[in-house]
Amino acid sequence: MSELKEKVILITGAAMGLGLATAIEAAASGAKLALVDYNAEGLEKAKADILSQYPNSDVLTIIADTSNEDDVKNYVKETINKFGAIDGFYNNAGIEGKQAPLVDYDLDVFKKVIDINLLGVYYGIKHVLPHMQSKNYGRIVNVASVGGIRGVMNQTPYVASKHAVVGITKNTALEYARYGINTNAIAPGAILTPMVAGAFKQVNPEDPAAAEAEYAQANPTKRLGKPEEVAKVVCFLLSEACSYVNGQVIAIDGGQSNSY
Ligand code: NAD
Repeated sequence: MSELKEKVILITGAAMGLGLATAIEAAASGAKLALVDYNAEGLEKAKADILSQYPNSDVLTIIADTSNEDDVKNYVKETINKFGAIDGFYNNAGIEGKQAPLVDYDLDVFKKVIDINLLGVYYGIKHVLPHMQSKNYGRIVNVASVGGIRGVMNQTPYVASKHAVVGITKNTALEYARYGINTNAIAPGAILTPMVAGAFKQVNPEDPAAAEAEYAQANPTKRLGKPEEVAKVVCFLLSEACSYVNGQVIAIDGGQSNSY
């Protein structure tokens, strides 16, 4: 069981999906939460959801677009102003983009995916690190994907951005571990969140359930993952217990990546 009591945990993309599941798990572990999203309504619902389960939680919400560096500076500043530290950073916000073969890929969507999934992750690390360095302690968990360790049909910018997240993770781990800061990435397979439900709709607009069943069948567990199953791993990586795991990419995919 992870232990985040009194730790300040900053989570981007916290309004739903993997970010919200980790926020709930961290609240259960006693963390103080700074939750970031550009979906203001979703963020307030997320906060209400957490407080209904853990009424004593300390939850700060900050509306920000993680692909805008000024917004990133601001979410870091607001977190420090309220809590005085950032112990753990779950650098999670990301989008899938539209599915299309490389040549046909819409350039504006391509750039948006790179802006959010790559630059947004970079800005977050860049502005969080100095605060962690000043305390000689920190845990960073970046969200890659199995698309960060292999190709995925029709998702060139997503796959490129997630491979880049793996690269940033390895470099941050090398450069900042001497300051007590451990940086790792997770590589989820298909976990049933709103993003993945949307992906199945793109794969088979007439019958998304059939696309989902086919995907599940290819997994050794014969099912998709649940957001809570990712959240438990992330909370370990965000905790003090994760003291000598650094620069790793942890697949959370039911073992499917062993068959690639
Ligand atoms: P989701 O779409 O269900 O939730 C993502 C959240 O991030 C939303 O609340 C959205 O509003 C927010 N967000 C997106 N871009 C943002 C931005 N620029 N600024 C602020 N908030 C932003 O997605 P999810 O499935 O929970 O995915 C979370 C992360 O996990 C993403 O990086 C995704 O690529 C990665 N991932 C997910 C899966 C999966 O199976 N669900 C697999 C591999 C990787």
